[in-house]
Formats: sequence, structure tokens, C-alpha cells
Amino acid sequence: MWKAIGKPENRLDNVKERLKILLLDGFFQLKTFREPYAGIMHGLIFFGFFVLIFGAFFDATEYHITEPLGIAFLRGKVYLIFSLLMELFGLAVLGGIVLALFRRYIQKPDRLGYKGVPDNRPDDAVVLILIGAIIITGFIIEALRIHVTRPPWEVWSIGGWYLSALFSGMNGDAARFWHKFTWWMHALLSLAFIAYIPYSRLIHIITTPANQFFSTLKPKGYLEPIRDFETAESFGVGKLADFTWKQIFDFDACTRCGRCQDGCPAYLSGKKLSPKKFIQDLKKYWEERTVRQGTEGEEKLLPGEVIDLHEIWACTNCMYCMEHCPALIEHVPKVIGLRQYKVLTEADFAPELQLTCRNMENNSNPWGVGAHLRGDWAKDLGIKTLAEDPGVEYLFFVGCSGSFDDRGKKVSVALARILQAAGVSFGILGAEEGCCGDSALRMGNEYLFQTLAQTNIETMKGYGVKKIITACPHGYNTLKKDYPHFGGDFEVYHHTEIIAKLIAEGKIKLTKPLPQVYAYHDSCFLGRYNGIYEAPRTVLKSIPGLKLVEMERCREKGFCCGAGGGRMWMEEDEGERINNMRTDQVIATGADGVAVACPFCLTMITDGLKERKKEETIAALDVAELIWQAMA
Ligand code: SF4
Ligand code: SF4
Repeated sequence: MWKAIGKPENRLDNVKERLKILLLDGFFQLKTFREPYAGIMHGLIFFGFFVLIFGAFFDATEYHITEPLGIAFLRGKVYLIFSLLMELFGLAVLGGIVLALFRRYIQKPDRLGYKGVPDNRPDDAVVLILIGAIIITGFIIEALRIHVTRPPWEVWSIGGWYLSALFSGMNGDAARFWHKFTWWMHALLSLAFIAYIPYSRLIHIITTPANQFFSTLKPKGYLEPIRDFETAESFGVGKLADFTWKQIFDFDACTRCGRCQDGCPAYLSGKKLSPKKFIQDLKKYWEERTVRQGTEGEEKLLPGEVIDLHEIWACTNCMYCMEHCPALIEHVPKVIGLRQYKVLTEADFAPELQLTCRNMENNSNPWGVGAHLRGDWAKDLGIKTLAEDPGVEYLFFVGCSGSFDDRGKKVSVALARILQAAGVSFGILGAEEGCCGDSALRMGNEYLFQTLAQTNIETMKGYGVKKIITACPHGYNTLKKDYPHFGGDFEVYHHTEIIAKLIAEGKIKLTKPLPQVYAYHDSCFLGRYNGIYEAPRTVLKSIPGLKLVEMERCREKGFCCGAGGGRMWMEEDEGERINNMRTDQVIATGADGVAVACPFCLTMITDGLKERKKEETIAALDVAELIWQAMA
């Protein structure tokens, strides 16, 4: 069904790696356990039920098949331990169900709803009651059996043993009748459970592990490039058939757990977008289109008619949703696919983004500053361009912020000074450097991105560039992961990685103490996209006197500054400003300053500090600036 509608995509490569993911995320549920309450709750139900089914199967196999052949395992101590385990796991399932009911119907966390309104559905309760009823009838059957037979070793069946006390006044015939009755109830409930799977949230027992198995093996944040600009009539995702089959399959794997929504900066700042709702709305339409209406009739346009345009444009591409989704659903490429349709097929997108694109087209930077001025920040620093010395070891790819933005230029200067002091052989492209294209790519203008990327690749290859340093995680990510599509294979390093290495090698001497408390803000494109959490922290901790404190939302759970996914260039007129929220989180640490490792984050948090009138008391500095201060 998914393959009949969606585009082809190979998700059967590297089966060994896929099985490993299935084992870790499917069976051991590593992502689910990141949240203690929900993880324990789900774990009790999942592992309990798994062991009970396995035990029942084992028991039935022995009774019906092996025992008649004279082979029996469940005897003596093995039987007692088996009985005890089955009891404990049965009780575990009941415990999990109590936790689930308490959470869903009494605690009511926002993530199980949308904007404070719970989205409980009848099957949420039916499933829990059904599982609970299967377990309880199982205990009753056992208790009635123990009541009648009363063998002393059955004390190992602790649940049934103590429950049997309830039937102490019941005579043998009545107990036998109720035993039979309950056995049939138990059997019918178990069959009902199986029959209910396709019609309820229980389907996730099948679809979620399957989705985990088929999950992407590509680097985090990978975007498949558009390869048919010459021939295609439409670009991006306008209709269901524009998704790949796996992107459609994602809809059926969503369990509505809400983990994605819990840290989504767009949702938390009051915007309409919720990654959970986004997937569920697509799922609803997919079901409508296939199951209820059939594929005949006029199809709705996904961007605009199925998904509100505000939602599509509110996403900062922060990757929180994908990082925390236990079903390994891939939200961000879908958002970008819908944006591509609006930008490339309909040319219908925000005027401020149109201006940004024009600036990139004309001057290869989002501000539209003359491209010839790109290298001016380095004028008096004695830095060679690659045209002057193509033999340097590293290209410092400065990026647009580092080249044109006054605040960003200071970071470029600090980094250049550090590299010079450490004796690193590096050069810049100067006016030959172009915009890396990350913002164009993520706002859906893939055509512009490819043009910018190909120009840069040609220039860099022309100079034989092999290693690149960049201070911008957006440039870092796109140079590392998107440029290889177009023949740009370079070793790319973020400046925090290089600085950490130079400190470790003793090439940087930090002699000046900075006795201050600093919080570190994780850039999404450095942290969640590239797993670089330690390098900036190691660097900061090596500054004498500096005390590093963590924000409540940090590392994998870091809160976006609001600038990713092209949002840097867009108005934010819905809900609260994300950068102000992040700034409030900085202020809450009580730190003297906040260290960042991304020029976009620097701009957003600096603006937030101004907005909160804290710019005089709380400093916002790039890691490189702090290091340079400690060296100078
Ligand atoms: S990428 Fe970030 S902003 Fe976009 S939907 Fe996911 S969590 Fe929300
Ligand atoms: S998309 Fe993933 S994290 Fe979000 S509700 Fe669905 S299963 Fe949960």
C-alpha cells in the first residue's frame, strides 16, 4: 500500500546495521527510556507482556508437543522459577497499566494533547483495559486452580497464591465452573487483543519496529538532493505521491507519544506547529485518501490544504523531534519537501525570504552586501588567501556571518588570531568564497542551494582544498553532508574541534584567568546534527578560572535559538520569540555570560539579552572569543 503510492526508496541496504537499530531502539527501547516515567511505564508493559507471551507459548508447546514425546522442561526448580518469573512480569504489566492510566487521565501531560487539550481517543483506554483484563483473568484462573489443587509449591506463583485466598469459601464445583469460565474469558480477550491490533494504536507493535528497521542510515540531517531540475514538472512534496513510501510509512508508526512535541521550540513558543500534530494530520489525510475515500477524486494539496502554511514555515529544523522520536520518524525532510513545493513549484513564500534569496543570488550572502567585500574583515590580519598561497593545510571557510555581520566578524578575527598563534597553516578564499547555501537549502530553495554549493566546490577544488575549518555549524553541516552530493568531498572541522585539539597538543596556552561563570548554549546544527557536545565544553573548561554551568535544556535536549531552517531571515509574528525564551533559560542559570559556537545563535541570544535588558550584565560570546581572551 505504501509502496503503491509513495516513490521508491531503498531501505533494505545494510541489513546488519538495521537489525542493530531494531535491537537497540525496538527491543531495548533506548529512546523510550530517556524519559524515566514514560520509559518505565512502557518498559513494564512491553517487557512484561513479551515475557508472558513467550512463557505462555513455551508452556503450551511443552504441554501439547514435547511432553507427549516424553520431553519436559518445566519440572522441579525450573518450574518454580518459571512460575515466579511469570508472576513478576504479570504484576509488572499491571503496574505499567496503572502508571499509564494515571499519566493519561490524571496527570494529563501536555504532550499527550495539543495546546493543553488532551487528545485521548477511545482506543487509548480500550487497549489499556484490554491488556489489564487479560492479565487479571490470567491471575484469576491461576488463583482458582491453586484454590482447588492447593499444592504447597504454588506459593512461588505469588500473585495467584495470594489471590486464591479470595476464593477460600468457594466449593470445588463452583471453583471449577469459574475456572472454566474465566479461562474462556481470558482466551476470548486474548483473541480480541489480536483482532484489535489493526484497528487501534496496538498496530504500533508492528509498524513501529518496522519503521525502526527501515530508518535512515544516512548522517543526521541528511537531505536527498533534487536531481531532476531539468525534467521535473513539479518540485518538493505537493501530494502524497511525492513522498517516498518510507515517508508515508512513518505516519503509521507514530504512537502519538508526544516526545517530539515536548521540546519543539515552535510548539513551545506558542506556534501552531507541533511535530506530533504534523505527522498525525498527514496520517489522517493518508487514511482518508486510501481507506475511507479511496484514491479516486480530487486530491488535496499537502502544503496549505492538509498542513497549515504557518506550520511548515515555523520549523527551525532544530532536529529535536527526530532526535527524540522513539519510532525514528523523520519529520524534517518532510517539512523541507513541503517548503520546496511552495518555493520551487509555486514560487509562493514570504517576501522577506524572497529578498534573502535574491541577495544570495546576486551577492552570495543573505544581506546583499557586495560580494567583493567578503574578505575585508581579514584585511589587516596578515591572512593569506588561497589565491596567494594554495599550499596551506586548512581552508578557513568563514561563512556569511563571519564575513559580513559586525558581531560575526569579531568571532572570525578571534579564531584567526588563535590559529595564527598556534601556528596552524591556513588561508581564506576572500572574495572568492560564496554563501554555503544552508539557509537556501532549508528554506526549500534547493535550486539556489545547488548553484551556491557547486560554485564553492568548483573554487575549492580548483585550489586543491582538502581540510576545512568553519566557525559556523550551518556551514559545517552543509559542507560536510550536502556538498558530497555534488563532488565536494572535504574533511570539515568545526572550530571548537580544532581549538580542543590545539589545546590538547599544547599549541594554545591559556594564561589569562577568566574568573566567571558561563553557561554553554548547544547549537542544534553542532549538537543534534553532528553530535559535537564535548569539544566546546572541553575548550571552555580549559580556561583558567572559568566555571561552566549547564542549562536545564542542554545537549540532546538543547533548546533551539530560533534561527535554523531559514528562520534567521523570517519574521516571527506568531507566539513568543524563540530567542527570548532561550535567553530566559540563560538568565535562569545566573551565569555571567553565555558561550556559543554558532554565529546564528550569537545573534539570536544577543538580541534576546537586549530584549530582556540584560546585555550589560550578561555577556554573549563565541567560544573562540573566550579562548582568545584567555590567551591574550
Ligand atoms: S525540527 Fe524542531 S522546530 Fe521543526 S518540528 Fe522538529 S522539533 Fe519542531
Ligand atoms: S512523531 Fe514520534 S515522538 Fe512524535 S508523537 Fe509520533 S512517535 Fe511520538
